[in-house]
Amino acid sequence: MKLKIAHLYPDLLNLYGDIGNITTIKKRCEWRGLEIQVDSVYGNEKIHFTDYDLVFLGGGSDREQLLVRDKLMLMKKEISSYVEDGGVLLAVCGGYQLLGSYYKLENETIQGLEILNIQTEVGKTRLISDVVLENDEFGTIVGFENHGGRTYINDHKPLGKVLYGNGNNGTDGYEGVVYKNVIATYLHGSLLPKNPLLSDHIIKMMLEQRGLSAELEPIDNKLELDAHKYIVDRFVNGRKK
Ligand code: GLN
Repeated sequence: MKLKIAHLYPDLLNLYGDIGNITTIKKRCEWRGLEIQVDSVYGNEKIHFTDYDLVFLGGGSDREQLLVRDKLMLMKKEISSYVEDGGVLLAVCGGYQLLGSYYKLENETIQGLEILNIQTEVGKTRLISDVVLENDEFGTIVGFENHGGRTYINDHKPLGKVLYGNGNNGTDGYEGVVYKNVIATYLHGSLLPKNPLLSDHIIKMMLEQRGLSAELEPIDNKLELDAHKYIVDRFVNGRKK
């Protein structure tokens, strides 16, 4: 049994080391003897989402989002069915925005996949910060944000409450969305290397979707947790740099 990851548009949606999320999932699977394959998808080929255990959409500039928009729209139906059937999807920043209804720029609007009932509008400033969230299940989640868009998530469940940073729109105090087996967030960092509990949660969802036992062998997370704690101590607990 091999787990498979589809990395969508790695050439265009890959800001601030978003590829680190893929590396993390891959390594954490391999360390447990789970075979894993990563396929880069550039949008010219027909792919079957049902073959995949994780779909990853990274962040991109407005220009790059415009470039992938049309290719993404060709997959709209298949990605929506994948998500509605419980497929695991991680989307970061520009990828997160593209899951929604639209991302409204000053002079044009990028239509989204309408998988999430969220709307994004560009603001006058960029929201740039380290970020610390509080999540009910995993405790703190740390990352880095840099976005012009402000996202409004209506009745969706957020990924976390913002303890430090701006989050979805800089005003309502929440960050990201969790919907079915989708995790959508503004957090780069990249996100997963410093949040091992979240990474293992994603691997467990992937295994459960395949009908496999989601019991994961424990691995030593000392380095990852030290890096995580450094950010929490620095930005939330007020430790000097
Ligand atoms: N272009 C989007 C914005 O600025 C997303 C940026 C990103 O992916 N970091 O809001």
